[in-house]
Amino acid sequence: MSKQNIDWGNLGFGYLETAKSYVSDYKNGSWDDGRLTADHTVTISECAGVLQYSQSVFEGLKAYTTEDGRIVAFRPDLNASRMADSARRLEMPVFPEDRFVDAVKEVVLANEDWVPPYGSGATLYIRPYMFGSSAVIGVKPAEEYQFRILTTPVGPYFKGGAKPLTIKIADFDRAAPRGTGHIKAGLNYAMSLHAIVQAHAQGFDENLYPDSATRTKVEETGGANIIFIKGNKFVTVKSPSILPSITRRSLEYVAEHYLGMEVEERDIPLTELPEFEECGLCGTAAVISPVGKIVNGTEEVCFPSGMAEMGPKTKELYDTLTGIQMGRITPPEGWICTIR
Ligand SMILES: *Cc1c(COP(=O)(O)O)cnc(C)c1O
Repeated sequence: MSKQNIDWGNLGFGYLETAKSYVSDYKNGSWDDGRLTADHTVTISECAGVLQYSQSVFEGLKAYTTEDGRIVAFRPDLNASRMADSARRLEMPVFPEDRFVDAVKEVVLANEDWVPPYGSGATLYIRPYMFGSSAVIGVKPAEEYQFRILTTPVGPYFKGGAKPLTIKIADFDRAAPRGTGHIKAGLNYAMSLHAIVQAHAQGFDENLYPDSATRTKVEETGGANIIFIKGNKFVTVKSPSILPSITRRSLEYVAEHYLGMEVEERDIPLTELPEFEECGLCGTAAVISPVGKIVNGTEEVCFPSGMAEMGPKTKELYDTLTGIQMGRITPPEGWICTIR
């Protein structure tokens, strides 16, 4: 086989079937050996736990081709441990963390021809997920589960430059104080769809959720953590109800150890928003999407970085982290998992 004949630079963020997916089944209290499959469909009971009571968790990471032609994944061990946390919270069996990383490597290798070349801006998106596959009608955890990994090549997130976003303080709540906001579960996304469709209809790019208990503090958007720049400070949210983004945690390290910034992880009251100079949303998909404006009812906060391009500090953070991911900058120990 050889590289797929795909216009990598013009790929969108959609699903494109690749050669193989990974699958492992949990039955009678243990996981089977797992295997690659060319069957990209799933057949389960009409009464499966995932279909009736949304018992499902997932992860998202990427494989990159580096400047020197290796294929690498970025910190897959952190996805493994986060998925274990997510599974425990939904009373699902944990897929062993070392096996998770091995399965990521195996499925990427099997789809090597779909890993976009260096310089194209495209990457191979990797989506591990797990769901209750056996029948449940009374509300309880399923007894059988399936763990799968699908891969799909995705295009550069920003085609023709990263245009700053306009976001609104959400009219809805995302995560209850002792709820499931800190795990990567499909249920958190199902309930965000109505809010995002409405926000888009109102002309906003995203919803920024305040904390549900007091609605006075910044939490995160539907699918990304939020970061702010104030002078030489990198400021981000500390809350038990946000998803611990691997991108955000990596950016904190980059800010402190590569860019000499001061890092603060703390409560951020909505009233502090006008004091920041730059703002960005961070996650695996875009790394950082700059935010130009936050609208809260009739009030608007416009960041000095403006609506034309990424702020200068945000750009440095973005360039450094993507440089590490693409093999142009020496990574911290253990961040880059070489697959081939
Ligand atoms: C996946 C996700 C993120 C980003 O996490 P990364 O590990 O950086 O990709 C942020 N917030 C939510 C709600 C998420 O689901």
